[in-house]
Amino acid sequence: MVHDKYEPVIGLEVHVQLDTASKVFSPDSTAFGARPNTQVDPISLGHPGTLPVLNEKVIQYVLRLGLATRCKVSRRSVFARKHYFYPDLPKGYQISQYDTPICYDGFVEIDLESDDGAASNGALDAAESPASTKRIGLTRIHIEEDAGKSTHAETGSLVDYNRCGVPLLEVVSEPDLRSPREAYLYLKNLRKLVRYLGISDGNMEEGSLRCDANVSVRPCGQNRFGTRTELKNLNSMRHVEQALEYEITRQIASVEAGTPVEQCTLLWDADAGETRTMRSKEDAQDYRYFPDPDLVAINISDEDIRSVRENLPEMPDQRRERFMSDFGLPAYDAGVLTEEREVAEYFEDTLRALFKRTKGGDTRTQAKLVSNFVMTDVLRVTNEDNISVQELAVTPRRLAQLVYLRIEDKISSSGAQDIFEMMQDDHESSAGKLADENDLIQVSDRSDIEPVVESILQENGGKVDAYLGGKEGLLGFFIGQVMRSFDGSPNPEVVRDVLQEKLEARRSDDSTA
Ligand code: ADP
Ligand code: MG
Repeated sequence: MVHDKYEPVIGLEVHVQLDTASKVFSPDSTAFGARPNTQVDPISLGHPGTLPVLNEKVIQYVLRLGLATRCKVSRRSVFARKHYFYPDLPKGYQISQYDTPICYDGFVEIDLESDDGAASNGALDAAESPASTKRIGLTRIHIEEDAGKSTHAETGSLVDYNRCGVPLLEVVSEPDLRSPREAYLYLKNLRKLVRYLGISDGNMEEGSLRCDANVSVRPCGQNRFGTRTELKNLNSMRHVEQALEYEITRQIASVEAGTPVEQCTLLWDADAGETRTMRSKEDAQDYRYFPDPDLVAINISDEDIRSVRENLPEMPDQRRERFMSDFGLPAYDAGVLTEEREVAEYFEDTLRALFKRTKGGDTRTQAKLVSNFVMTDVLRVTNEDNISVQELAVTPRRLAQLVYLRIEDKISSSGAQDIFEMMQDDHESSAGKLADENDLIQVSDRSDIEPVVESILQENGGKVDAYLGGKEGLLGFFIGQVMRSFDGSPNPEVVRDVLQEKLEARRSDDSTA
């Protein structure tokens, strides 16, 4: 979608559900999928006389995200009550933060040339630093509690209070995004970040990551922003992109027709592929925020910040750069391998185990070989079986055995793939044992291969003459015959070599005869 006359302006408000065992202000479990209304203590239900107590873990988690996104940290911040009435909010207010968000003024970087894993981009050189990155400002990150969940049926509405009090972070971006594509990339990076930090599973379909998108358009060259609308009910990253495309087109058409955009909240209907008005600006609510008198202020010390910072894992972008510079991996490989922290760790653990066996040598070639195994075999199995790499029967140590056999040229590449499959089912046997038992050890010894070549050439005298008479395409036939007659797996390169040599020898015999 290219507009030459208008520029879209987008800012996202993202809710991240934190992966804590208990709720933000009560000891209730947060486990997903429990029977409705079974994880509801009096605090979650807002019974009179109950007092909320802050879960310390939530502070650690918000600081992790805040520091990873280079936010400033408020040394003192307070909780506020946000009042509204809705059946899924038993207290009549939500505990949130208002004028003192715990983190503010940070940024998330996006790579505008990201190929999104769709195509190989091996050409990008490791030394080339991406000039295409853009910083998307973060206005604030604050803590709040989730509300319950309503389900509307024909016979009436049902409410499940299990989700009441589940900890959320609200991450508000600056209106720095300029296209649906940028919004998509921002969201994708934010999701990757929370997963790396281990603070949320970032699952949009299950509601662990929820996004509201604010969007306006303005004539190119105009400094002032246009009037914005807010899009809700965006349940996947693709929906965010599609809904924004739709809304931008609608706003431009409206402006072109001389009807100014009205500020309102819209619901995205994914099935119909269009938006529906939820409320106009006139119904805009006054939440009557005030500081929650039941909760003490959050005080953050230098020591708190230092300890969280020290325990931050390596961030995905840093790791990607390191994979390129240390192991010489192409940008595409480094991107795929660092998409998930577990996959990156699996890759590095395999490489470490492999280096122990090879004791040095060409580390780049070895890294590329492991990368190929992880990108093809490992990720194929984890996707097909819908499991994580930690659940794979082929552990990094076992994969290293397999790659080592390949490096030593003991097995062929197709043999390696067969053994990988077998290792998935046989949790005990080593790659070497499986290769042995299944005759997949590649024979590279010429003296073992020569007798078989001789007998094949003798059996096929006619074809040998034809070959020598110019039908060189028959070489493939001879190779196939040798491979088949061999008891075991001969190295095809060596077979080809020996065959050519023996055939040439016959040619000279012919000419001397
Ligand atoms: P509210 O208080 O109504 O939630 P905020 O000022 O917090 O409004 O902004 C909410 C989101 O809307 C932010 O992500 C911000 O970047 C974005 N935003 C603000 N103004 C515009 C605009 N004119 N066009 C697009 N997005 C905007
Ligand atoms: Mg807001």
